[in-house]
Amino acid sequence: MYIVKVLVEHPVHSLDTTFDYLSHEPLLKGIRVWIRFGYQKIIGYVESIEETVLSQEELEKQVGFHYQYIIDVIDEEPLLNEELQDLANQLSRMTLSPRISCLQAMLPTQLKPASHQAVGMKTQLCVEVIMDQSAKTVKQQECLSFLKKHPDIPLKEVPYSRALLKNLEKQGCIQIIEKEVYRQPFSMTHQAKHIQLTVQQQKVVDGILSHQGRVALLHGVTGSGKTEVYLTLAAHYLKNNQAVMMLVPEISLTPMMVEVFRERFGDQVAILHSRLSQGEKYDEYRRIKRQEVKIVVGARSAVFAPLENIGIIILDEEHDPSYKQESKPRYLTSQIAKIRAKTHHASVVLGSATPSLESYARALKGIYDLYELPDRINQKPLPHVEIVDMIQQTRQHNYSLFSIPMKQSIQTTIDKGEQVILLLNKRGYATYVQCQDCGEVLKCPHCDVTLTDHRSEHKLKCHYCEYMIDYPRVCPHCGSTHFKSIGYGTQKIEEEIEKLFHGAKVLRYDVDTTRQKNGHLKLLEKFRNKEANILLGTQMIAKGLDFEDVTFVGVLNADLSLNVPDFRASERTFQLLCQVSGRSGRGQKQGHVIIQTYNPDHYAITCAAKHDYVSFFHQEMKYRQVAKYPPYCHMVSILIQSKQEKWIHQVAMDVKNYLQTHSHQTIILGPAKSTIYKMQDIYRERILVKFLNSKDIYEALNNINDYYNKQQKGKVRIVCDFNPYSQI
Ligand code: ADP
Ligand code: ZN
Ligand code: ZN
Repeated sequence: MYIVKVLVEHPVHSLDTTFDYLSHEPLLKGIRVWIRFGYQKIIGYVESIEETVLSQEELEKQVGFHYQYIIDVIDEEPLLNEELQDLANQLSRMTLSPRISCLQAMLPTQLKPASHQAVGMKTQLCVEVIMDQSAKTVKQQECLSFLKKHPDIPLKEVPYSRALLKNLEKQGCIQIIEKEVYRQPFSMTHQAKHIQLTVQQQKVVDGILSHQGRVALLHGVTGSGKTEVYLTLAAHYLKNNQAVMMLVPEISLTPMMVEVFRERFGDQVAILHSRLSQGEKYDEYRRIKRQEVKIVVGARSAVFAPLENIGIIILDEEHDPSYKQESKPRYLTSQIAKIRAKTHHASVVLGSATPSLESYARALKGIYDLYELPDRINQKPLPHVEIVDMIQQTRQHNYSLFSIPMKQSIQTTIDKGEQVILLLNKRGYATYVQCQDCGEVLKCPHCDVTLTDHRSEHKLKCHYCEYMIDYPRVCPHCGSTHFKSIGYGTQKIEEEIEKLFHGAKVLRYDVDTTRQKNGHLKLLEKFRNKEANILLGTQMIAKGLDFEDVTFVGVLNADLSLNVPDFRASERTFQLLCQVSGRSGRGQKQGHVIIQTYNPDHYAITCAAKHDYVSFFHQEMKYRQVAKYPPYCHMVSILIQSKQEKWIHQVAMDVKNYLQTHSHQTIILGPAKSTIYKMQDIYRERILVKFLNSKDIYEALNNINDYYNKQQKGKVRIVCDFNPYSQI
């Protein structure tokens, strides 16, 4: 008899709890099993197993409760190998999250413990020839020779009758067996293009290859050929029979990277991303696990792909905020990449046109190796960027959202038959709706935010929860019917463009228009086929798009990202502007960019206009030093949440006091109400801790976490976020 400790996701508390079950058979650590939990049958994860000589009765007498048996075993072998199981434990300590959440984060959705249904293998019946003499009839002989030419053919594709096959089976000539097949998420293509690397690219490749096991920061402007560097590196490791991990920020927004890797490496590539069907994901995962593929292209969670003998891990657009997971466990992908690289003695490449301050600072210190690609391929010039001061426009009595130079540039571009990309970092129609008589602004009843006008659907929506109402006819406060939409979003601009530029075709690219499966690709395909002159979108359009005919990029309001309460606001603005500018002039023709702003002298904007990363870096570092922000310190944000407003402030004060007496060399800010104090009916206060040495902070936070999450039984929840990326 065996006592099995099973990790389950507790439905109420986020505890690291295992529960004991019995099994007659020995089980492997790390496999999933079906167990009864209360009245439910759920999936658990075998944490450890121990043989006992006692009988069930004797055991139960000892512990005083009734044991249940494991109902069924799901996996033949553990889904996560030793390395990944260790990593889960490490991740749990690093992020102060329960181990179950770490295991969950490492597996594709349907393989997660606690999912109620598990997707399994897909099988089909296949025909195999086992003995080819002595078929009785000519027809049977014919069928046999056909089968020999088509080994393992699926039964349903055999062009002979079932009766005939049954006969052959009876004679012992063939065998009809069930075999596993993979669901293919894409069709294979193979058309390797051979590109000769430039001298600069070659230097980067040689440098990285001769420093195995190091972290390289590849700083290369947009269009400098970073992708080609990645491909060459991947080919090198593949030839050495080593695995390659290619990570991108959001795979649906960077379809190019998937395409080029597929073109170059065909079916040696597995793609992992959220838009695959559950079955496809399961199969891709198993192809990787069985070492049938050596290259994985994927977003954040692909960093956990069960590859063995990894040679290199590449993160493209390493600065991108989507590399930070914003739910449990709140990890930073590059941190995980570095841990895995260490285990495999692999190299890490962090690539970006606008590296994060943290990474560039590490490169300057020599912690990372720095490689630069300062020029575009073929010396193609970077686009010319013009800053338009919107205050001047108002002085000239132009109150439109489009400055005069912006209007002219859009018109000339369209007239030349070229294409335009417009960035407005705000979706919806307008920002909020206000009653003209009493001033009432319509807000979400569950969150402290205004509702956004989505005119095309006649709805007002909350962007932080699912709340949505029909556009109201009367003011809920005074009964007036005079509403006005204040501010503007992508929907309103779309209308405006249609008025300003007659006959111009606009495609709106934001989360609202790309929700359906492959919605992104369909829209982009339309734009590529020149079915529209203008692609208008939120920051989604800034990433990885490469259109030959886009020669003009307009940024309607650069201040939107500058005026957010986040110490990274300037960095984000600089990155966004560089990235979106880089969409212009990628083909044969010279590109042009206009940035509209009320802060024309802000260094984030002037440096972006000059494509000057290094100046931006040094200015921003000065600010970070004075204000004591990363990379000059580490940060952890502690969010105290409860449905009961009366509790949270007291708890927040207690947490602060505890931290003050149990940590050294820290700066503790707050508690203060979060920027959005109430979200989804939960009140939130925040404490920010800046620290240099992490040891006592981890210990103190661990204690706090244990205390509140266990003692308070979910009344107040404390969430710690190391390296916080968002502060709402
Ligand atoms: P990045 O990723 O740095 O923005 P890309 O890798 O997309 O740049 O390269 C920009 C363009 O230059 C692509 O169209 C790519 O095919 C082309 N390119 C890259 N390297 C070379 C090379 N060595 N010779 C010719 N063309 C190249
Ligand atoms: Zn009113
Ligand atoms: Zn809401």
